[in-house]
Amino acid sequence: MLETRSWAAVVEIKVECPVCSQVIVTDIREAQVKYSLRNPVPIVLTHGDPEHAITAFVDKEFRVRAVSGVNIVQRIQEAESRRRPLEKRFVPFPKENVDLKGIDSFQLKIMALVDGRRSVKELAEILNAPEMRVKIVCEQLVRMGKLDSVKVVVE
Ligand SMILES: [Zn+2]
Repeated sequence: MLETRSWAAVVEIKVECPVCSQVIVTDIREAQVKYSLRNPVPIVLTHGDPEHAITAFVDKEFRVRAVSGVNIVQRIQEAESRRRPLEKRFVPFPKENVDLKGIDSFQLKIMALVDGRRSVKELAEILNAPEMRVKIVCEQLVRMGKLDSVKVVVE
């Protein structure tokens, strides 16, 4: 039988908020995850009173693999707005179609954010983690075959 799915198809996910412990049940657009170049995909969820935003990292099978108590998308914008030209940067490059087996939640967050543009320093700012730790984990992920490489970029 042929399966037909519309662009507007949604998938229900369940996430426990690390800030207020509320369990959030919400629909996300199937296409948002399926056609993303990232795996996992960071999805920002806003809820509660006072309103706050968290980020769920959803894999291609629509499982929530990690949760961060901050709005990752906002942090990405902040980090990228501070980017300066002609700065020497360590930039990790993603690999396509990598499976997430054996990946812990910190490695997973890095894999969701690596895009061949963001530097180790920016990833550290976004994830609120020490730069050296992010660098070490990126190099680990290269050795594990989960990232392509870490290159020195000046642009
Ligand atoms: Zn909450």
